[in-house]
Amino acid sequence: MGRDIKKYHLSYIVCWSLLLWLFILAGGLSPASSWALSSQDAYVRAKRDYTDFKSSPHTKYRQFWLEHIDKFKKIYSDEPDGPVAPECLYMMASIYRELYRYSGRPGDLSASIDMYERLCKRFPKSPWAKEAKALLAKIGRPEDNAPAGEAAAGAKAEERPKLERTPVIKGLHEVKDIRSWSTSDYTRVVIDAEDQVPFKEHLLKKDPDIKKPKRLYIDIFRSCLGPNLRDPIPIMDGLLRYVRAGQYKKDTVRVVLDIESLKKYKVFYLLNPFRIVIDVIGERAEKGKEKDSGQLTLTQQLGLGVRRIVLDPGHGGKDCGAIGVNGLKEKDIVLKVTKKVKQKIEERLRCSVILTRDKDAFLSLEERTAIANTKKGDLFVSIHANSAPNPEARGIETYFLNLASDEDAMRVAARENATSTKNISDLQKILNDLMLNCKINESCRLAEYVQDCLVGGLTKRYEQVNNLGVKQAPFFVLIGAQMPSVLVEISFLSHPLEADRLKDEGYLNDIAEHLADGIQKYVRDTELAYLPVQGRTQTGLRPEHPSAKRH
Ligand SMILES: [Zn+2]
Repeated sequence: MGRDIKKYHLSYIVCWSLLLWLFILAGGLSPASSWALSSQDAYVRAKRDYTDFKSSPHTKYRQFWLEHIDKFKKIYSDEPDGPVAPECLYMMASIYRELYRYSGRPGDLSASIDMYERLCKRFPKSPWAKEAKALLAKIGRPEDNAPAGEAAAGAKAEERPKLERTPVIKGLHEVKDIRSWSTSDYTRVVIDAEDQVPFKEHLLKKDPDIKKPKRLYIDIFRSCLGPNLRDPIPIMDGLLRYVRAGQYKKDTVRVVLDIESLKKYKVFYLLNPFRIVIDVIGERAEKGKEKDSGQLTLTQQLGLGVRRIVLDPGHGGKDCGAIGVNGLKEKDIVLKVTKKVKQKIEERLRCSVILTRDKDAFLSLEERTAIANTKKGDLFVSIHANSAPNPEARGIETYFLNLASDEDAMRVAARENATSTKNISDLQKILNDLMLNCKINESCRLAEYVQDCLVGGLTKRYEQVNNLGVKQAPFFVLIGAQMPSVLVEISFLSHPLEADRLKDEGYLNDIAEHLADGIQKYVRDTELAYLPVQGRTQTGLRPEHPSAKRH
């Protein structure tokens, strides 16, 4: 036993001596210096390549600029504290700044500034940081001062060399446009693509080094960047700082959203034409609510008060909607009705009413929801007239967003979405994801009030008012709405009698009257449910000084 212990001790000592020798040996080789050599080599090579590139015709193509930035980025990421790390950051910043001269995109200048800032922060004593500081003092943020930024970058707009479109590779689809709507707590970005292509979203973590918030980017595969996206994408005064789009790889377009703060987001696609929709909710919304709560009634604090109603007359412009048997166009009828509803609500309720359109103009479905969200609507009502292949079909129905309740609902959604029923069933597969956090119960309640008042009210004056009830279907226009939202089909343009009625100003007036009744009833009951008993008034509206009457 004693010998065993000795043996054990001996092998233990031998083992540790070996490790010690290995350690000394390794120290003698100095891994730091051997790595330094290779990263320095790589840096020298990357710099030489970049110098060659700058005198080549390739400078006309954005993707080559990004490839050179990537080379320095890789050297830096491999050894972020290595001897050439400051130079790499400096080079990345400089290439972005140079690229900005060509592209004119604020995003490129911002990226350059971010790199210079990171360099100053991480390596304050480096001579490169000194250089960067001097440059930063001259360059303004593009959002602060775009012309100054351009001047600092050494080129006036008219002198700016032009970037050309990346040569199109066969089989790639063009990413044609990027549209955005933004407030301080909500942003919707829509990417228009030529055809349906696969895409994937990624979330970049916070980068405390440069105080960067989370960033979201979307890689769109089998795609190339369209010529429209060469121009700078306007920076909105809101949650979204800027959107950058670039040919990330030969067949991949990357769209990066730089967002002030990000609480949650949803990415989904719509069809006919294919577009990717990104909804981002910021953190400010919640903070803002807390801060203001002192001046709000209890109802408002709970987020239940209705102060702003967004009404959406369907279709418009090139999109006529359904055409009646008598030639009436849905877009005209619903605009008339919506204007009447607005007037009635404003007379009866202390709410402001916003219309998504007040003239015969085209508006995409995703823009309508974006308007409702950016205008901070408390309710969203989309107004339509129905049509069906069966000429006998008639009546009134009100929808809220959910999986289609039946075949007819599916057909109505397909028509209103201007897409096929097959696409609707594809959409249903992703809808569960989109339904999270949507105000489904409140939307259902609003739909019931609207439907009941419309049918009940019209029945008193008209015969054969068919109650088709409250239904569910995946309407594009309701997806992503942050507030209770419904879509009303006021009558059938394909039914001879109803089409005839829709021609009559009196009938439209009655529809508006009862639609407003439904909205008013919803508003009244919502507020009643949460107002203190003594604060209730006969009309159910807020008393003059709700806080004074609270007990
Ligand atoms: Zn419609």
